[in-house]
Amino acid sequence: MIALVTGANRGLGRETARQLLAAGHTVVIAARQDGAARDTAAALGEHAYPLRLDVTSTADIAAAAGELQGRFGHLDVLVNNAAIHYDTWQHALGADLAVVREAAETNVFGPWQLVQGLLPLLRAGSHQRIVNVSSGAGSLTEMTSGSTPAYSVTKAALNALTRMLAADLRGEGFLVNAVCPGWVATDMGGPGGRPVSEGAAGIVWAATLPDGGPTGGFFRDGKAIAW
Ligand code: NAP
Repeated sequence: MIALVTGANRGLGRETARQLLAAGHTVVIAARQDGAARDTAAALGEHAYPLRLDVTSTADIAAAAGELQGRFGHLDVLVNNAAIHYDTWQHALGADLAVVREAAETNVFGPWQLVQGLLPLLRAGSHQRIVNVSSGAGSLTEMTSGSTPAYSVTKAALNALTRMLAADLRGEGFLVNAVCPGWVATDMGGPGGRPVSEGAAGIVWAATLPDGGPTGGFFRDGKAIAW
């Protein structure tokens, strides 16, 4: 099985890649800096393949699709992990919309255009799974304050996209799910969160679901949570 993980150079993306490799899969280590992709792939082992990919760049996505087509001819799993702007410093009423727009480019349009760009490769795969790494902060049910507006609104949009893609691809056997890793001690999560290995395990669970598994769901630690 060949999986591509975005933002795989640090944090949850790197650990997700590490766990998938440990399970015997080939993993494309996608990172927006070429050096970071190469260093991470070299550190993670021989079945880790580096790829420069800024998810906001349609040119990068087109180049990535061409490179993957030439090297592998297909892709089985896409983990949309890369995200930005956990904006604890602002609230919805006074939010800087430039920050919100910037967040949307990476957190929503990035995964969306990556799915579109890699769809021919995924269609050629045999274990089609798309994992959108989301957050409880994007749960409408949990949204009782205006804090972290850029992050929360873009993760809610990513959840909506998850439902739509799951519906569009259901007939083709794809399993498309959103996963919250919980609060994890990464650069984004800060100190105090759970170990990164625990957060990544829920992402790997969704990436390796058996045929006939759930699709169009929102999960944490393999259990459904409220939208
Ligand atoms: P992180 O430590 O901040 O890492 C973010 C990763 O995304 C980095 O590799 C970063 O690359 C990459 N990235 C950012 N913009 C990108 C772009 N335009 N193109 C490609 N890569 C890009 O974050 P994390 O905590 O591991 O979070 C991973 C995922 O889990 C995110 O979707 C986040 O929203 C979600 N999540 C995290 C927590 C938590 O507590 N940590 C909780 C809930 C959900 P650079 O190194 O180049 O910046």
